[in-house]
Amino acid sequence: MDRIVVVFDFDKTIIECDCENLVVDELGATDLFNQLLPTMTWNSLMNRMMKELHEQGKTIEDIVEVLKQTPIHPRVVAAIKAAHALGCDLRIVSDANAFFIETILEHLGLMECFTEIYTNPSFVDEEGRLRIFPFHVNKCPLGWNLCPPNMCKGLILERIRASMAAEGNKRFIYLGDGVGDYCPSLKLKGRDFVMPRKNFPVWELISKNPQLIKANIQAWTDGEELEKTLLSLIDTIFIEENASLIITRFDN
Ligand SMILES: [Mg+2]
Ligand SMILES: [Zn+2]
Repeated sequence: MDRIVVVFDFDKTIIECDCENLVVDELGATDLFNQLLPTMTWNSLMNRMMKELHEQGKTIEDIVEVLKQTPIHPRVVAAIKAAHALGCDLRIVSDANAFFIETILEHLGLMECFTEIYTNPSFVDEEGRLRIFPFHVNKCPLGWNLCPPNMCKGLILERIRASMAAEGNKRFIYLGDGVGDYCPSLKLKGRDFVMPRKNFPVWELISKNPQLIKANIQAWTDGEELEKTLLSLIDTIFIEENASLIITRFDN
């Protein structure tokens, strides 16, 4: 069953916090971060913060130890494992970075549940410093400030859909919380679902003009509701797809 593609944002959707803020705060660099924040894009600021932490003697192992403490709701872990076991194609789109996301997913035993992770590339250089690069140079075609300059999740969603065009119709479920998750929400189609986190920025944007969203909107508040909603949507799609298979057979 690979007709269902579930696309997750990472920070405050899969995990309960922002993993890059978590590392900066836990390793004691919050003041410098706040000082630089108004002057740099998020992506280049995080690369700079990794340089600062490295110069202060903080190692990759220190960062990994913090990442292993990332808070996550146990039902989110269960929901991801269940959706994967049901045969859904699970993907992540995130403006965090590859090293942080992969470290957390491996620690949780979730890495093999995901087909692909679209995020800012990063690697540990020969000095042991993490370097973070922008995901892409394509700016959001809508030209607004809701998508950061290095990542338009709407473009990524279109790219995922285009890469599957030959495999027949896919049904998308998109889960997110932040302003960057609004652009992909607008790209979803009538048979898709968007799961905005209730009272978070993407939910507020969607609620202001719900008629702009073609997908069916299903809000959630916490991990328990995420699990219940996601699994029931997968169930609904199974039933609809099976029913349409039977109808097609009668038609022939
Ligand atoms: Mg988020
Ligand atoms: Zn965009």
